[in-house]
Amino acid sequence: PQPDATDYLAKLNDAQRAAVEYGIDPAARPGGPLLVIAGAGSGKTSTLAHRVAHLLVKGADPRRVLLLTFSRRAAQDMTRRATRIAAQALGTRADLAQALAWTGTFHSVGARLLREYAELIGLSPVFTINDREDCADLIHVVRHELGLSVKSRRFPTKATCLAIYSRAVNTGAPLARVLDDAFPWCREWEAELRALFAAYVAAKQSQNVLDYDDLLLYWARMAAEPAIAADLAGRFDHILVDEYQDTNRLQASILFAMKPQGHGLTVVGDDAQSIYSFRGATVRNILDFPTQFEPNAHRVTLERNYRSTAPILAASNAVIGLAAERFTKDLWTDRACAQRPRLVTVAGELEQARYVVERVLEARETGMKLKAQAVLFRAAHHSAALELELARRNVPFVKFGGLRFLDASHVKDVLAVLRWAQNPRDRVAGFRVVQLLPGVGPATAARVLDDVTATHDAAAALDAFEPPARASADWAPFVELMADVCGARTPWPAEFEQVRRWYEPHLERNHEDASTRQADVLQMESLAATYASRERFLTELTLDPPDATSDESGVPLVDEDYLILSTIHSAKGQEWRNVFVLNGVDGCIPSDLGTGSQEEIDEERRLLYVAMTRAKEDLHIVVPQRFYVHNQAQNGDRHVWASRTRFIPASLLPLFDAQAWPTVAPLTAPTATGLAAAAKARIDIAAQLKTMWD
Ligand code: ATP
Ligand code: MG
Repeated sequence: PQPDATDYLAKLNDAQRAAVEYGIDPAARPGGPLLVIAGAGSGKTSTLAHRVAHLLVKGADPRRVLLLTFSRRAAQDMTRRATRIAAQALGTRADLAQALAWTGTFHSVGARLLREYAELIGLSPVFTINDREDCADLIHVVRHELGLSVKSRRFPTKATCLAIYSRAVNTGAPLARVLDDAFPWCREWEAELRALFAAYVAAKQSQNVLDYDDLLLYWARMAAEPAIAADLAGRFDHILVDEYQDTNRLQASILFAMKPQGHGLTVVGDDAQSIYSFRGATVRNILDFPTQFEPNAHRVTLERNYRSTAPILAASNAVIGLAAERFTKDLWTDRACAQRPRLVTVAGELEQARYVVERVLEARETGMKLKAQAVLFRAAHHSAALELELARRNVPFVKFGGLRFLDASHVKDVLAVLRWAQNPRDRVAGFRVVQLLPGVGPATAARVLDDVTATHDAAAALDAFEPPARASADWAPFVELMADVCGARTPWPAEFEQVRRWYEPHLERNHEDASTRQADVLQMESLAATYASRERFLTELTLDPPDATSDESGVPLVDEDYLILSTIHSAKGQEWRNVFVLNGVDGCIPSDLGTGSQEEIDEERRLLYVAMTRAKEDLHIVVPQRFYVHNQAQNGDRHVWASRTRFIPASLLPLFDAQAWPTVAPLTAPTATGLAAAAKARIDIAAQLKTMWD
């Protein structure tokens, strides 16, 4: 039977359908800018996927559609969904997903566009991309060269320097303002920082590397350049953006430059879920969208929540309802349910881990897959105790956010070889590679790199170099490898295998656990084979690396069942049947690491809101009474005694099912009067213990 071409529209509610169909008329030019602003779980992402499908069904050219999402995973999900719907409606077997090629994050799309236009804007198309750690390394080198690190021990750390630089770039604010607002303790170094950043930019240029921020910065500049702008903007009839509340000023300016009138521009988001201001994102982008495109912008709000049960929604709405700002969206659901979200008091982080594992396994007993459950936390290291407990009880898990596969030194080694082959001027990569050889230290490495950058033929420069005696036996095979990979004599992905074979003896020489590391490299090789070229592989891996897993290989398990561990930031946009939020205590949410300003507190509240609204059926907020805080600013590490997060005050307790676990009286903190009494009694236990042996 002929499939009904628009069957998929029938499943949408009226508001969603209006958003999907708005301004799509194959005869007319794309309709004006569309904003979908709505609360969590109201189907924004789903509506966007349907809109893409609808575009394809109505005859839009998939190669001229640009879809920007928050992560590579989100882009893949959305592409799969949209093309499946469209293919079904069209009754076609054509590979729409292949044609819908321009999907991804702002950064990965930016990298692809920049390579295409590189020659026109003073870039070399073989540029490599520095991840944050590489950037920190480079800034460290530059800082050292300028003599800033020796000038004063109080000079900001490389990580802080980088954070300041990144914030200035992403917000477009003057350095002085950035320092005043976010880094007041670095105010006195303004002049030095300015010099540092100038030298850092120069170093990146001479080495032909870009950092994450550059991908946006160059794209924004390029899109505003009259000679290129028309061509660039003309490539896309439609630009669609998910999670718009977490874009920064640069990203908004890119959209503006690409679509000055907003024709064919769709953005969706939720101002109550803006959680990336620490990276320069600004909720103003979404709030000001209608006025920016006055009077053309069309706004759709969605009010029905399809994700969560009524008690979870009521509690989440109440938590965000106490924010200083007003979010004007009312969400409702018809998913009645008796179980309220649980607010579970446990003694400490150990008990917290046990509680979670206990409940997770219980749910699995009843048939709920591990994959349908997730544990969310504020910072990556908060899951340490839980990871141990999961390992002890043999529960497989995948961890999103936080420490990454790519941070492993052997993974970085192999990537460095590929990066250096791609771009011999990349000193961070080159430095790493040359020092893999025995007897080559930083001084020799620097001389090698100077020679390489002085010529256009890296392999020839290496060949001419007089290696130190200890490296002489390894030098010839090394030169041969570099000649092959730099000259692209070996095709991709066979090139990867060649690099691996060269690398293995070095691995064995330097690491005791060489065999596990070898397995990682092999896994990486199979991943590499799924990319069309070395350059695509490097770009994607640097921008959005694979997640860490409990599996030793470090590459996500594909078919098996596993529990999801994720930072709240990385959980954005996702949903699970059963959700645990760890450390629902003051000191963690809200964090006591910040400056404590009203804006920061509000962002922390939105963070809790994002976490809570991930849950479909069951939500557990776990409250350890004893919570370990690592705080360099305030007297180092310490334990704090917490009771509860300020975001769930007593007035909201009726919305929760408050429990203690295990069901014994919870620990209490020592009281001041109790301690005073003990001091008076002078109980000297140490002395008592000593007498045992007298
Ligand atoms: P978030 O703000 O967390 O990103 P969202 O607004 O993007 O959420 P979606 O993830 O698109 O929401 O949808 C939430 C859930 O509701 C999904 O499981 C989706 O399949 C379901 N859903 C959305 N619209 C409908 C609908 N019209 N009928 C049934 N289910 C729907
Ligand atoms: Mg979404």
